[in-house]
Amino acid sequence: MLGGMDLEPLEPLPDDWDRALCVVAHPDDMEFGAAAAVARWTDEGKQVAYCMVSSGEAGIDGLDPETCRRVREAEQVTSAQLVGVGVVDFLGFPDGIIEYGVPLRRAICEVVRKAQPDIVITGNFRETWGGRSLNQADHIAVGRAVVDAVRDAGNRWVFPEQLVGVDPWPGVRAVWAFGSPQSDHGVDITDHFDAGVASLEAHAAYIEGLGWEHFDPREFLEGFGRQTGQRMGVPFAAAFEVFPLGWGE
Ligand SMILES: [Zn+2]
Repeated sequence: MLGGMDLEPLEPLPDDWDRALCVVAHPDDMEFGAAAAVARWTDEGKQVAYCMVSSGEAGIDGLDPETCRRVREAEQVTSAQLVGVGVVDFLGFPDGIIEYGVPLRRAICEVVRKAQPDIVITGNFRETWGGRSLNQADHIAVGRAVVDAVRDAGNRWVFPEQLVGVDPWPGVRAVWAFGSPQSDHGVDITDHFDAGVASLEAHAAYIEGLGWEHFDPREFLEGFGRQTGQRMGVPFAAAFEVFPLGWGE
């Protein structure tokens, strides 16, 4: 899974922003790649909100979706609080079969217009995680829709029915995708690594339901964090691929 690209140095992410909105397919997505970075940002006084496209209700084999939805939403809310995030929206798209399309763009666009973020964060939506390890369909659908919905949000003629007491929002400067095999930027998470671990551990029912023997959240996050840290010359870092939204960038 390690290509030569992975050893390229990472440029530090810009720090001159105030509000971020994180839009991901499933509860637990943030915690497998970006929660420690979120903990750092909220600690610095930035506002970060979460939006889950599905509730991960198809994520536990031994649990029926309605029960699972309640369990996973509760775990996500706790997990978010542990990294300083008080707002978690659930859009209610069906876990496992999220489709890229206008309904998904419309729903994400509405959240962007209301939250008015400078930065929108999503998970890796490239075809693989690097090497041959294939990405999952929901992640790809959501990431593509995020990029498009961010543009939709700035155009008053797209989804105009949303613009009652809400303005178009052309203010998103970039979309950042964590965990991308083409990551070119990073953030030092050394001082907030433990908060990231606690945030992943909050998904206890999910982790238990995966049935991965001897899965240890700290060990798992340490592996990626350390490898990414080496690309920035720090103990632990998180990597992001940056998609600028201005023209000609
Ligand atoms: Zn996921």
